[in-house]
Amino acid sequence: MEMRADLVVVGAGMVGSALALALQNGGLEILVVDGSPLSVKAFDPQAAFEPRVSALSAASQRILERLGAWQGIARRRASPYGDMSVWDGSGTGHVHFSAASVHAESLGHIVENRVVQDALLEQLHDSDIGLVANARLEQMRRSGDDWLLSLADGRSVRTPLVIAADGAHSAVRRLTGCETREWDYLHHAIVTSVRCSAPHQRTAWQRFTDDGPLAFLPLAHADEHWCSIVWSTTPKEAERLMALDSGAFCAQLERAFEGRLGHVEHADARVCVPLRQRHAKRYVAEGLALIGDAAHTIHPLAGQGVNLGFLDAAVLAEELLHANGRGERLADARVLSRYERRRMPHNLALMAAMEGFERLFQADPLPLRWLRNSGLKCVEQMPEAKALFVRQALGLSGDLPELAKP
Ligand SMILES: Cc1cc2nc3c(=O)[nH]c(=O)nc-3n(C[C@H](O)[C@H](O)[C@H](O)COP(=O)(O)OP(=O)(O)OC[C@H]3O[C@@H](n4cnc5c(N)ncnc54)[C@H](O)[C@@H]3O)c2cc1C
Repeated sequence: MEMRADLVVVGAGMVGSALALALQNGGLEILVVDGSPLSVKAFDPQAAFEPRVSALSAASQRILERLGAWQGIARRRASPYGDMSVWDGSGTGHVHFSAASVHAESLGHIVENRVVQDALLEQLHDSDIGLVANARLEQMRRSGDDWLLSLADGRSVRTPLVIAADGAHSAVRRLTGCETREWDYLHHAIVTSVRCSAPHQRTAWQRFTDDGPLAFLPLAHADEHWCSIVWSTTPKEAERLMALDSGAFCAQLERAFEGRLGHVEHADARVCVPLRQRHAKRYVAEGLALIGDAAHTIHPLAGQGVNLGFLDAAVLAEELLHANGRGERLADARVLSRYERRRMPHNLALMAAMEGFERLFQADPLPLRWLRNSGLKCVEQMPEAKALFVRQALGLSGDLPELAKP
């Protein structure tokens, strides 16, 4: 059976779902294809936290509000945080950022990925966007001016425009020969949820250890003692930490975090993720655009991966809707390049900054240790520089697309 659409989004993760919703009501026939069932899980407030969470910026919140998904997130659970505390584990440098310094209510929200995903899926199911679930993309080839996509369940789709939102290991990227620049951070991230004896104070904590950054992110729980941790370390150390029993892991975690939140009393099941930076050399080609992790993956120390993805989705939707209104051909590489021109410099700049930051904190030579220690102390004493950083972190200082309300 062959289906047809004006545009196919491959991947209904957080970013692909956001793009499809941003395009609804634009008069386009849209199909979203995903290998998973695309079902919405009934939310149980008593259930354990999902290990994968994201720190969503104010810009992402605004986009999700426009898409009608923020209400579903707030109804489930989201943890606003007003402060961020960063320090160098092998020195005395530290810096503290606060939302109050720029008269904002919060610096962002820590939300489980599953919660964001379900709130978006709920909106998708309520829309007239076509959803093709349990159908992995297996092959794609050019057929005249169209793409012909072959799905694992035997069906196929014909479309002039494919948007790759199928994540870091994008099949679209591979099948169309899109090149990437990539390198290993030589880090694995251990993620889990922990309960500490002291409350998290609605603060995102990050300590730079000799092996990599360790973050404690506040989770939404009545007693405010639960945090999501992201512990980036060498692959060998990660393997050792993953093999520890729960008690020994909690003890090591508490030591690595200098006991800032008292005892680590409990840790849920741990997940270990290898970290690799990837950046597509081009985001667009004739009839093709890459967004979200399919276009770029970045070290989680920035807490920016999905925030960049939501901006990609919002900007691409804005460009496509404008072009459609002007009667332009959406698959035209010149139309799609407008999206690339707006997003690539921004994504590259952030990735370069994070790379520099990560190397500085990995560096052992004494002059570099001195530099990062005095750098942190220096920033701490510059309220204006800190306010600038906070505005950047909120994501409200750049090119923010105006999405139409659904
Ligand atoms: C440890 C860690 C911590 C992080 N913390 C943060 C944070 O604090 N803040 C932040 O902004 N970001 C964070 N990130 C990054 C963030 O998780 C990612 O940027 C985000 O999940 C990417 O979303 P996506 O929709 O682009 O891709 P994905 O979430 O990977 O979604 C891809 C979708 O495509 C589907 N798919 C894949 N292949 C196919 C195929 N062949 N056919 C059909 N469908 C397919 C999948 O089923 C899935 O639904 C973190 C990442 C890590 C590893």
